[in-house]
Amino acid sequence: MTSASPRPSRSAAAFGGAAPVVVADAAELRAWRDALPPEERLGLVPTMGALHAGHAALIERARAECDRVAVSIFVNPAQFDEADDLAAYPRPLAADLERCAALGVDLVHVPDAADVYPAGFGTWVVPDAVGDVLEGACRPGHFRGVLTVVLKLLQRFRPHRAYFGEKDAQQAFLVRRMVRDLELAVEVVEVPTLREDDGLALSSRNVRLAPEDRVEALRLSRALAAAAAAFAAGERDPEALRAAMRAVFAEPGARARLEYAEVVGVADFLPASASTPLPWRALVAARVGAVRLIDNQALTEPS
Ligand code: AMP
Repeated sequence: MTSASPRPSRSAAAFGGAAPVVVADAAELRAWRDALPPEERLGLVPTMGALHAGHAALIERARAECDRVAVSIFVNPAQFDEADDLAAYPRPLAADLERCAALGVDLVHVPDAADVYPAGFGTWVVPDAVGDVLEGACRPGHFRGVLTVVLKLLQRFRPHRAYFGEKDAQQAFLVRRMVRDLELAVEVVEVPTLREDDGLALSSRNVRLAPEDRVEALRLSRALAAAAAAFAAGERDPEALRAAMRAVFAEPGARARLEYAEVVGVADFLPASASTPLPWRALVAARVGAVRLIDNQALTEPS
């Protein structure tokens, strides 16, 4: 299918579900939302498209817990600090709509940038220092863009629940905190990271990996596994855990370029010291060829 039309060109029945309503316009979306019976629970899955099985896990969770499921597909320019990354971001809209149909999504919102950020737009959600570490340090302004668009989507949809992946753990932390701090009437649900059999976390960016880089990309999950193994063996010095992750990227022949290997306390999402209360989370970001990948893993006491 090559059409970029906002509606599937084949019958949705061919994909196992009824065609979702596809809405670009905010006013049309509001009309759909206003027409929902008040007793129906709405689940929202915000995405940037290029949907894969990880997104599907969020949608399936929403489908199981809510009466209606909406997906937004918006490659949000405000959260990209590199024009090349924004330009190269995959946008297979027709395939995304097929996947949404197959998953029983009721509505897909595909706004364009001028609709989300009209002329004169000038109000942003800016997180405190947690927004400036890790992803925020590597991608200045990233979380200002993320939180602003998530708040706008929550306003547009007024969902009962909004679904986010642990894959973007810092994002999920910041969204959850925004919801609490700004007293938004929505329940944030976090869904575990879906991985390939060899451990690679599913990501829309994986399709851009050159075949020879696919195996290099495994250094991220291998580094996290090294930290988790050291933690399970009793290591409680975050610096030693960071070193265990760095070692995977320092192996002879390694080509992946590490951006950070960090351990944070999950309570404040700031770099952990030995006195930071458990649980902790290990996080890595690395460039593999031209592709930037992130991954993370919980470090918890065995129960
Ligand atoms: P994105 O389209 O990359 O902005 O992702 C949309 C949502 O899907 C975010 O909440 C992500 O954390 C989540 N997500 C992305 N990859 C995965 C994955 N491998 N497993 C589970 N959730 C994911």
